[in-house]
Amino acid sequence: MISVEEALEKVLSYVDVLEAEEELILDSLGRVLAEDVRSTIDIPPLDNAAMDGYAVQAQSTAGASPTSPRVLRVIGEVAAGYITKEEVGPDTSIRIMTGAPVPKGADAVVQFEETDEEKRKSAGKPLSEISILRQVERGTNIRVAGEDIASGSLVLNVGMALRPQEVGVLASLGREVVRVIRRPVVAILATGDELVDIKDPLPPGKIYNSNTYTVAAQVIRYGGVPKILGIAKDTIEALEDKIKQARDADLLITSAGVSVGEYDVVKDVLARLGEVTFWTVRMKPGKPLAFGVLRLGKRRIPHLGLPGNPVSSMIAFEQFARPAILKMLGKKDYAKPTIQAKSESRIDNKDRRRIFARVRVTKREGQFFARLVGPQGSGILTSMAQANGLMIVPEDKPGIEVGDEVQVQMLDWSVEI
Ligand code: AMP
Ligand code: MG
Repeated sequence: MISVEEALEKVLSYVDVLEAEEELILDSLGRVLAEDVRSTIDIPPLDNAAMDGYAVQAQSTAGASPTSPRVLRVIGEVAAGYITKEEVGPDTSIRIMTGAPVPKGADAVVQFEETDEEKRKSAGKPLSEISILRQVERGTNIRVAGEDIASGSLVLNVGMALRPQEVGVLASLGREVVRVIRRPVVAILATGDELVDIKDPLPPGKIYNSNTYTVAAQVIRYGGVPKILGIAKDTIEALEDKIKQARDADLLITSAGVSVGEYDVVKDVLARLGEVTFWTVRMKPGKPLAFGVLRLGKRRIPHLGLPGNPVSSMIAFEQFARPAILKMLGKKDYAKPTIQAKSESRIDNKDRRRIFARVRVTKREGQFFARLVGPQGSGILTSMAQANGLMIVPEDKPGIEVGDEVQVQMLDWSVEI
């Protein structure tokens, strides 16, 4: 039986970063950039006003104060989006709005509040002249052309994952599309004679196929594209038939049929169509776990055979499928956010495996606490719905006592908890 780390290393050694594709910038969110993005323009394109006010020559405000204002003639007005032909001289100014290009001759903007504009307006006086109440330096309230992005500069680097701010930067460069690593297609196949699709009525002795939907939701959450292959019966023929439909996928995930029972034929099919790299991992839940590579036509497709129990399937997905998807997407960091907490529960580790125990983490007075969420049977999927973390019991520890410091892998990560 191999360790979680060894198993993960094997899985990752069989998947590679996928090719790049052109994508609309909004569809690039969360994806990894496959090109260096340079700007062909200055942003902002021209020197412009950072405030509503009056564009002036700084030198003409020398000595200005509320008690000794400098009066300037107002020769025009310019709003954002327009360029004025008027030129500011030593005795003149132009009324200017935030974002409007600074007129020729001007080298500073005096904001409205530093003028007598309000007073003039309430006195019904025209704005043909304005009193400047403060001396300003050159450059005051002016955003310089190219101060955000200079034309020709490298703005975004290959390999970075795009967040909303990077999507915005691309838009500000006028980019409609961008090259990013494509999403992996993950084929999902449930196996088991007892399974019924959610669209069908439930006959006695059968259960609904939930794993397909949990796994598909996990695939979507981590950036992959699920391709649902349905349900295969527990026979080699039925399985082989369905598995062939995974030909175009980047990864095949099956659930169930990997234990030692008579009907557990997944690993037999894996051995027939390819090779089994490992089977069984020193973890709990999730010990029966098969991984290998299928030869389908000319392609070699990694195949992760998850256990059938819904909780085991989910947890094994988090440990192995998630990193594989992230690697294919070109991401660098595969580790789940992990925190240190104080355990509020006892856990026995009799058979010395790595236990991933379902817990609820809370934060009180700056300290994290982790408490088991109730029955830990690996068929009890609602316990996953109550949990926000997986407490890790190391394989070399006999158990966890109340008050022990433990590591918790967070299923959901919010600083508030
Ligand atoms: P197996 O690994 O085939 O022995 O299955 C272990 C347990 O998981 C059994 O109780 C199965 O009924 C259950 N199981 C298997 N596949 C699914 C599925 N797709 N959805 C829900 N439960 C499942
Ligand atoms: Mg079964």
